[in-house]
Amino acid sequence: MIRVLTGATLIDGTGAAPVPDAAVMIDGDRITAAGPRLAVSAPANAEILDVRGRTIIPGLIDAHDHLASHGYALATRWGLDEPASTAHLRTARVLAETLAMGYTTVRDGGGLDAGFKLAVEHGLIPGPRLVLGIQIVSPTGGIGDRVSPSGHGCCAVNDPLLPESVANGPDEVREVVRTMVRAGADVIKTATTGGASSRPGHGPLDAAFSLQEMQALVAESHALDRRVMCHALGGPGLRTALEAGVDSIEHGCYLDEEPTLMAKMAAQGTFFVPTLTVYVYHRESASPHVRARAVALHSHHVASVQRAIELGVPIAAGTDAGGHGHPNNALELKHLVEAGLTPMQALRSATQWAAQCLGLERELGTIEKGRLADLVVVNGSPLSDVTVLLDAARIELVLKSGAVCADRRKPLAS
Ligand SMILES: [Zn+2]
Repeated sequence: MIRVLTGATLIDGTGAAPVPDAAVMIDGDRITAAGPRLAVSAPANAEILDVRGRTIIPGLIDAHDHLASHGYALATRWGLDEPASTAHLRTARVLAETLAMGYTTVRDGGGLDAGFKLAVEHGLIPGPRLVLGIQIVSPTGGIGDRVSPSGHGCCAVNDPLLPESVANGPDEVREVVRTMVRAGADVIKTATTGGASSRPGHGPLDAAFSLQEMQALVAESHALDRRVMCHALGGPGLRTALEAGVDSIEHGCYLDEEPTLMAKMAAQGTFFVPTLTVYVYHRESASPHVRARAVALHSHHVASVQRAIELGVPIAAGTDAGGHGHPNNALELKHLVEAGLTPMQALRSATQWAAQCLGLERELGTIEKGRLADLVVVNGSPLSDVTVLLDAARIELVLKSGAVCADRRKPLAS
């Protein structure tokens, strides 16, 4: 079936100026034409969707989410406070809500098993297109090592779909990468530093993994055609990650202290996924050590984003959502604009640039002939105010691969 969306202002994700009174033609799952309405000739049998007064943007992409995470409390994280089936249904609802907010693709940084991807692909549940990390690969004591504050290991029985991800030494690291790929990992998620919410003693500037271990991880991941997304906030662990050649730095809060490394990131196109949203949340944490870390890193984080723009380090939007709630993924765009991105840059960080970060730029991220038809019709202008993307009522129409996934349109007055 051929469908044409007409009359809206088109922001195609390439950074080109918005096109007023545009048309986007879709044949099946692909875009076949996009541009000024009068330049797009629709066949007589095409279904016309009149979206005058609206804005069409590419389907949004969150490059760092945790769709199966529903809180930071230990019992929640370990899956102890409700039946697994209840938690799975909760996750299914998050997938549906995230898609309905215009997020047609999500890279999950760990915790979501391959069964959800299968369920979306089979049409059992609505959800974004998924790029899965499965579990966070780290050494003993790293953020993938599940130990309680009392020193006890996770008491829940290991889920074979979310395999054990602790590895020590290059050989074990290689084995765990292979195990993740066997379990359905599309990307390898690892961590070379602690984080804001990690245990006391393993904070943003504390390192995990040696250079030899990280080199083994990157080599094995690349040999299996998987990119490496590396949680790295600052200090020696951040340097290890970049020296080993990871494909994206997640969080990167203290990148501003590494001007040489940032220049290298710009030169080799290493992505920066700041996830500003999660640290805004952590600034209000009930745990004093989490709060202190989030407060301490804030000015560095903003400076890192600004330096990245100046140097041309590519930025992709990610929320690190999960613990802090779903599905307000567009909050990240608000925070990126507050940190210094233009609204157009913020929008590209969640469309074209995010698609590049995921290696999917030939299929996704822009509204151009030949791309998959992932589109969002917004009632409002994200270039005037990116927060319109946080208002569900304004996300009027969501198409994923040409299929309508959400339709909140009211009849237009003619
Ligand atoms: Zn994460």
